Amino acid sequence: MNFTKYFNPKQTPQSEPIPGKEMAANSAGGYSFAVDDWQRLLRFLILGSEGGTYYISEKQLTQENALAVVACIAADGKRAVETIVAVSEGGRAPKNDPAIFALAVAATVGDEATRKLALNAVPQVCRTGTHLFHFAQYAGNMRGWGRGLRNAVARWYQQPARKLALQVVKYQQRDGWSHRDLLRLTHPKATTPQHNDIYNWVVKGGWEWVGNEPHPEAALQLLWAFEKAKRASSVGEVVRLINDYNLPREAIPTQYLNQVAVWEALLGEGTMPTTALIRNLATMTRVGLLVPGAEAVGKVVAALQDGERLTKARIHPIAVLAALRTYGSGEGVRGGNTWQPVTQIVDALDSAFYLSFGNVASTGKRWLLALDVSGSMGAGNVGGVPNLSPRDASAAMCLVTAATEARYHVVGFQNKLLPLTISPRQRLDDAIKAISDLPFGSTDCAQPMLYAMEKKLKVDVFTIYTDSETWVGDVHPVQALQQYRQKMAIPAKLIVVGMTSNGFSIADPDDGGMLDVVGFDTATPNVMADFVRGFDVEAAPQTDAAAEDEAVVSLTT
Ligand code: CA
Repeated sequence: MNFTKYFNPKQTPQSEPIPGKEMAANSAGGYSFAVDDWQRLLRFLILGSEGGTYYISEKQLTQENALAVVACIAADGKRAVETIVAVSEGGRAPKNDPAIFALAVAATVGDEATRKLALNAVPQVCRTGTHLFHFAQYAGNMRGWGRGLRNAVARWYQQPARKLALQVVKYQQRDGWSHRDLLRLTHPKATTPQHNDIYNWVVKGGWEWVGNEPHPEAALQLLWAFEKAKRASSVGEVVRLINDYNLPREAIPTQYLNQVAVWEALLGEGTMPTTALIRNLATMTRVGLLVPGAEAVGKVVAALQDGERLTKARIHPIAVLAALRTYGSGEGVRGGNTWQPVTQIVDALDSAFYLSFGNVASTGKRWLLALDVSGSMGAGNVGGVPNLSPRDASAAMCLVTAATEARYHVVGFQNKLLPLTISPRQRLDDAIKAISDLPFGSTDCAQPMLYAMEKKLKVDVFTIYTDSETWVGDVHPVQALQQYRQKMAIPAKLIVVGMTSNGFSIADPDDGGMLDVVGFDTATPNVMADFVRGFDVEAAPQTDAAAEDEAVVSLTT
């Protein structure tokens, strides 16, 4: 009898664990490694749990992730809060909601010191009125309105009066919460007379009488201009108020939002806040401001090609990708509206996608970028973006590395290898479409290594974009990698780019040559490059703490 037919640490079918390794049954009927709670926390913060996965319902995925958050808080509350703040403030996630939720969990289940740290971090994580409403909803539901929570929210209302005025104008209510509700509940102490006036304005729902002269206090002029805009009787008057007081779009009465002059004023010299600029591209096109050859197009293109500006505004690549897809389609997601996309703007969004990852330097190494295009990768959505499956998102993600590295090779795999011809020179959406149109199949994550071995390809780093739900192969991916290293005498590394927030990885946590990263963490391309160069750096892009706004994920039209 050949005993090794049934037991061989170098060759184990994926339906069984590798002898001697601690492996977990994945959702597909195979065995993978379990990621630790900190990696799970990061996956949740970046990828969210909206839509669940092919195998795991939204409810179960959210609960599993919440338990990982709780476990991190119990293990090291300070580190958990710092991680949440770093992801949120660094603009590393497509959406801020998972960070807000995790912070609310820390403010609920943490020990006293952790709860205090979490509540103190509210202004850092909840930078807009909408963020604050979400936090109020989550924390209020989980822990109730004790004094600690009331004080934390009250402190948010003590931010500088000029900034607060903008917040109360731009974000008035959400999720059944309004500033009026929160002010009544938390009774912040007015630190200046201007704060007192803002609180009164919010609680009373505006001013009954508005004079013709602007408010004498600079911090209150925005509220005055907002009130004037409500009462405006002509487009010209609205335009003057925008020009003189920098009124945001949210302060413009609906009946003026079809006017090209109003949008021209809102765009300014391309000075409209970047989040708003991206979100309103379709509207500005539809109303006739952005037409081929228009000066406004030049301003928009310049704004989108300013990498520093994108970083400071925390513009997430997924937001750009979502805008690119919607804008390029010429049709609103919620139906009704159509527009003629301007080619230069589509091109500018394409380059903005790459710019929004910040600077990534080439490593000069040989990369095999392998996309899991199996059936499970077509289900669920990344970062809560509708119609952006893990499979589509990984195509976009791999092009970021392809755009910086000269020596790369892109392949797809299911239970067999599929040649792909996508490249960063293609329009991003065309590259994604090429992946979306592939048929579905079963999963064998060992395929990239087996292929490289068979073709004798020299590879320094295998990068696999996957949900790690591998099950069909007759050798585990890490065993295939060991075989490759031995046969080719190359100490190849393996990077697993997690594309869902499940708890699995094909990377062996005990092998220093393997790394787990999270797809669409803006820090990921740099973390990958540093790992391949031999450093192990936790990179986070630096952003201006005073910069604007939440991440955008859709165009409003
Ligand atoms: Ca699969």
